[in-house]
Amino acid sequence: MSSPIAEIRDLTKDYGTVQALRGVSLSIESGGIVGILGPNGAGKTTLVETIEGLRTPSQGRVSVLGIDPSREPRRLAERLGVQLQATELPPDLTVLETLRLFRAFYEKSLPANEVLAAIDLTEKSNARNRTLSGGQKQRLAIGLALVTDPELIILDEPTTGLDPAARRDLHKIIRSLKERGRTVLLTTHYIEEAEILCDRVVVMREGKVVADGSPFELLQRAQGGSTVWIRVDKELDPVGLFRAGAQPTGREDDYYRFTTEDPAAFVVALGRTLQEGNLTLLDLRMKRPTLEDVYLELVGTRSEDGDGEGS
Ligand code: ATP
Repeated sequence: MSSPIAEIRDLTKDYGTVQALRGVSLSIESGGIVGILGPNGAGKTTLVETIEGLRTPSQGRVSVLGIDPSREPRRLAERLGVQLQATELPPDLTVLETLRLFRAFYEKSLPANEVLAAIDLTEKSNARNRTLSGGQKQRLAIGLALVTDPELIILDEPTTGLDPAARRDLHKIIRSLKERGRTVLLTTHYIEEAEILCDRVVVMREGKVVADGSPFELLQRAQGGSTVWIRVDKELDPVGLFRAGAQPTGREDDYYRFTTEDPAAFVVALGRTLQEGNLTLLDLRMKRPTLEDVYLELVGTRSEDGDGEGS
């Protein structure tokens, strides 16, 4: 098995009396998209900036592509792609001039037209940065992270503040990096972004990792039951459903509502109940716990910047 692309062991980072990281251990394998999710102040930026070599650990060990970032930041910079939370683009340069400027900082770099194609900005290559939309600026900021054709790309809140369409465009670009075998580490406040984009989600709270797994694995940790609504053509005798562990939670319009910890057992019991009572099922709706429910259980609060549109 290949060695991890980044290895973090017992990392702590104090800013004076503030403990931003309190013993973080993570091993990131090559390939795929890893999302770091957590409320404001959880330590996401501190963690990625330590991986990038911009911050020195108070304690613990960090190795990225076999390099200690705090000792050899320059060597790491040649192999790492970094997009900072707020990248200031020179307003009067064109997109192409900006890419050329950044290429000049490195020994080895991709041709500018390849980067433009990767960020879907070829048509804007002669536009001045100040004329770009928020989504185009963000795509260019990612392009700057790609000039060295890095193996690991770190994006700090790449979609914050973008409208849903621009966010979707950016997701496409991030997915295409994965398809080209790159590893992407990104921070986000958007739970649905983590769910649709990331292969692995690391949830942080107060400087610690509180959950780590695929979105599907995290969903399996959901506490609390599923809600089921059923509509039938005659009066329902729910005793068989109770036996299968369902709890009645009242009626809504023509629907009977239940909660259940075991939706599969509920459906089996429902089939039997329908048959025994000679009832016809007119409708069935089910709401299972979402990743957002799991996230809120883990962090105990909604992030201040919101969890979806409009922030
Ligand atoms: P956000 O989602 O708001 O970007 P975050 O999860 O990225 O938050 P960090 O920015 O890493 O969190 O901050 C973690 C903690 O460290 C916070 O309490 C923050 O106030 C503190 N902190 C971050 N940078 C500094 C600094 N340079 N000096 C002092 N405290 C800092």
